[in-house]
Amino acid sequence: MLAIFDKHFKFYHDTEIASVPIREEIEGKYKWNLSDIYSSDEQWEQDFLWVETNLNGYNHFAGKLNTNSGTLLACFKFDDSIGVKLERLHLYAMLAKDSDLGANNYQAMDDRIKSLFSKASAISSFIKPEILEIPDDKLLKMIDSLDELKIYKHKIDDLLRTKSHSLSQPEEQILALAGEISQTPYSTYSMFTNADLNFPMIADEQGRDLDMSHARFYSAMYARDREYRERAFNSYLTPYKDYVNTFTTLFNGNLKVNIFFAKARKYNSCREAALDSNNIPVMVYDNLIREVNKNLAPLHRWAALKKNLLGIDNLKPFDVYVTVFNNFQEKSYSFDSSKEIVLEALKILGEEYLSSLKLAFDNRWLDVYETKAKKSGAYSSGTTYGIHPYVLLNWTNLLNDVFTLAHEMGHNMHSYYTGKTQPYPYANYSIFLAEVASTFNESLLLDYLSENAEDHNEKLYLLEKYLNNITSTFYRQVMFAEFEMIVYKMTESGEALTPDVLCNLYKDMYQKYWGPAVAVCEEETYTWARIPHFYYNFYVFQYATGFAASEALASNVKANGATAVEKYLGFLKAGSSDYPINILKSAGVDMNSPDPVLAVSTKMNDILDEMEKIISNM
Ligand SMILES: [Zn+2]
Repeated sequence: MLAIFDKHFKFYHDTEIASVPIREEIEGKYKWNLSDIYSSDEQWEQDFLWVETNLNGYNHFAGKLNTNSGTLLACFKFDDSIGVKLERLHLYAMLAKDSDLGANNYQAMDDRIKSLFSKASAISSFIKPEILEIPDDKLLKMIDSLDELKIYKHKIDDLLRTKSHSLSQPEEQILALAGEISQTPYSTYSMFTNADLNFPMIADEQGRDLDMSHARFYSAMYARDREYRERAFNSYLTPYKDYVNTFTTLFNGNLKVNIFFAKARKYNSCREAALDSNNIPVMVYDNLIREVNKNLAPLHRWAALKKNLLGIDNLKPFDVYVTVFNNFQEKSYSFDSSKEIVLEALKILGEEYLSSLKLAFDNRWLDVYETKAKKSGAYSSGTTYGIHPYVLLNWTNLLNDVFTLAHEMGHNMHSYYTGKTQPYPYANYSIFLAEVASTFNESLLLDYLSENAEDHNEKLYLLEKYLNNITSTFYRQVMFAEFEMIVYKMTESGEALTPDVLCNLYKDMYQKYWGPAVAVCEEETYTWARIPHFYYNFYVFQYATGFAASEALASNVKANGATAVEKYLGFLKAGSSDYPINILKSAGVDMNSPDPVLAVSTKMNDILDEMEKIISNM
């Protein structure tokens, strides 16, 4: 589910809760219409019962998949029919629950559907190993002998590709047993940082005592008062420094877990094993790191400009996100006017795309306003076969909301086109592609807003916003990805990662990425200890590849119009019908070439040119 991976979160202050309306007070057109999924909870119960009673149907196929093509096809179709219903049941329960987290009945439905999912996956777990036991040539012949089976060819290909990394049944059993204990480093890290860690109290901007917390740290990095930013920064990193030996042990423990599984599955490296799940070649990762290292100049340029505009001797890590333009009072954006802004900004995508967007806007696919006990943040529900996707928002009339709308509608249209075009087995898309359509829309929105800015102050504000976006979604993630690559390589070659080794490595990396205008303070070197993404096993690089791919696609569309739009729509419709790298290639982006990284660095330089021009004329 995309919902899990989305980056938009919002923090609530106690004082706001009193003024939050209840759902009944919101006009129907601003609430999603769940009757497109089920007309009533009773209908949901009927489908639930249907799945529950039919799950035993899997038993007819167990042990028989190698007999003939007809049996194989019948099993696939049966599995699809269960999958379609389960996803529909889940969508309804999830959206109903998220509309009102206080409603116990929807919480219960959501719990029930999750346990039905596990039941279904347990009873159907024989399918993959049984298919892998059929000799390849026999299997391919079976697939080719029946037209209806040919749809599953890519799925089978994807399964066969990992065959050499599957083990014998008893070996797989041992790995499965190890699965649960392998979570210990991450769950300990998570429990320690979120539940046990205490940050030293500091004075806030008014000199009052302030308890530091994870959320306060992030908002403090945008505070105008530099001394307060520094106090917040130092307080936040203090426990990571105090407990550095514990964090080092957890960090190493996590690396060793992943290396154990990669070795057990006969991969050359942990990175190869992690990337193989989406069939991403290691060279795509290498290419990203290499090209970004060649193109760090725009980030160095931004750091130097920022240092000068702030009028400070050197930029510290707690200065890199604060605004340097204080003269813009942000406008208020209503939801209705923002729909028009988004439609205008995406006009270049043509009638087909715009009419799909309007279809979503006019037919209650979105739940717009914050209501009592509604889930915070924003997400798009992803593809559910046979049903349009839904979007959750918590509109507050800020510019950020307009970007969130463009972002989530990017996901929404990706899911919509995929669901409309692909057969059920491919009506979803890889996590590697998940953030492309969303950031693509944000890029077009920024161009539109800055072209139509009312004055220089608004324009500078927008340009800075985008620079922060490139910095945090692209460069910072590549820095993490390079750090992650190096620590695995060191561990795999037998080098020990001590606290000093990790801190020095992180420090060098930070200095290299941000350049000479930045002075890395000691506290920053402990950042590796606080970033949860280092426990996600080569996950972060995908933020950067997704961002770069979307910039390349956006610049393509702007330069080449209709033909590039056609290819882009092809990307939105492709689902998981091919491997993610091939899908991007068909859309016009080669992830093995320097082009995606160059699209980002060119965009960043263009923004900086524009910014400097405006500043020199002010
Ligand atoms: Zn997203």
